[in-house]
Amino acid sequence: MARTRILATLGPATSTDAQVRALVGAGADAVRINCSHGDDEQHRSLLAAVERVANEVDRHVTTVADLQGPKHRLGALESDPRTLALGEKLELVEGPGPSPSPEVAVNVPGILRALRPGSTVLVGDAAVELRIISVEASRAIAEAPRGGTIASHHGIYFPGTPLPETSLAPKDLHDLEVMVREGVDWIALSFVTTAQDLRRARDRIHDLHPDQLPRLLAKIERAEAIRHQVPIVEAADGIMVARGDLGIELPLQDLPVVQKELIFAARRAAKPCVVATQMLLSMVHASRPTRAEVSDAANAVLDGADCLMLSEETAIGEHPVEAVRYLREIAEATEPSLWTGNEFPLLGREGDLSGNELHGDEGAVAEAAVRLAARIGARAIVVPTHSGQTARLVARLRPKPPLLVLTSQPSTFGLTGLRWGARTRSVPARLALDALRERARTAVIEEFHLSRGDKVVLTAGYPVEGRPTNLLNVVEV
Ligand code: PGA
Ligand code: MN
Repeated sequence: MARTRILATLGPATSTDAQVRALVGAGADAVRINCSHGDDEQHRSLLAAVERVANEVDRHVTTVADLQGPKHRLGALESDPRTLALGEKLELVEGPGPSPSPEVAVNVPGILRALRPGSTVLVGDAAVELRIISVEASRAIAEAPRGGTIASHHGIYFPGTPLPETSLAPKDLHDLEVMVREGVDWIALSFVTTAQDLRRARDRIHDLHPDQLPRLLAKIERAEAIRHQVPIVEAADGIMVARGDLGIELPLQDLPVVQKELIFAARRAAKPCVVATQMLLSMVHASRPTRAEVSDAANAVLDGADCLMLSEETAIGEHPVEAVRYLREIAEATEPSLWTGNEFPLLGREGDLSGNELHGDEGAVAEAAVRLAARIGARAIVVPTHSGQTARLVARLRPKPPLLVLTSQPSTFGLTGLRWGARTRSVPARLALDALRERARTAVIEEFHLSRGDKVVLTAGYPVEGRPTNLLNVVEV
């Protein structure tokens, strides 16, 4: 059983019940609706297919609605596309365009106040680089040292420029409302720059549906978000290393180390981290991944990622099911090496993750559960949890025995779908210890096929579940 989760993006290649069923059967734990494409009707119909399949296979399939966010774009161009000669000068003006040459409209309110002489601006897939020469009230003069071709609505990036505040655009507010009402487990926020972006989205969700609070996944895809990573991780419920846009904002060669740092920051906070984009990109057409892709996916597992994401591979690819299967097999083949000689794998960077100063008594109990399991050769760790907190604290230590989460809270099911390692089952609320032990025993037999005499470590809140986790118990199957 792979512990690393797989998040598959749904799209035209994966929209029928049969296609979704095949993805889940191949190992997808979670699915992403990409709100940048399709309309409400299509999004609803994808979610309905997921729900039918989940009922059929009697498993929760975690859902993520990914909001398009304030992606910065050029406005409309008068001559489109427009080829820039080497060293050609142009004038950047704010607005939707089109504006007459040499003006180029940039659809980013407030951007002229943020630019400085010497700032770099990238257009398209970073193919065209502009350098700002001077900035006036109504325009910025730029030159294109290497020339190139730009087109209407191309993406535009301002690496190193602190950007004007953005709030959720009207389209994002609309998608947010529809998706929250549909009951998705997670909302992914694109192009987050500060923790304030997350707080705003959370307030908005609270105003809309105070009783339905999906988790927030902060997509780290702006250079500025790297600088604010600590408060962002704190304000979010999980993060995504969104390597597509991040690879334009940052020098490409910086991505691997930034990926490791972000994964570590999330794990330190006991929040899940998704690694996304170009995981198995060649499989959009090819039936097998490249060696480099396999190695990249395996290294993300070794970095400690909770979850790997597929984008085009499953949304529009020719081999969506095979892509999920490859990712699962890569995870299964790689994970055992996490534990060679390590009780707590992946520790030792920037201090000890197991320190209980970080997460109080519950963090200490989680750590003790993992140590106890290793000491007695337990075949599973069973974690009853209300909010998911204890499961987070145990999972972040990457224990070798499989983890089983028991919860009475439907929302906790969705949380565990992006988190490393856990199977989740429902139990009645506030079970007393004896009843909990009995539940744990039957659940591990069913989930992991344990047999008589196998030992299991159970965490619990004493005297009754729902209290802070304060007890460890060895259960013999
Ligand atoms: P996207 O986000 O697929 O929504 O662009 C992921 C990324 O940028 O890597
Ligand atoms: Mn992106």
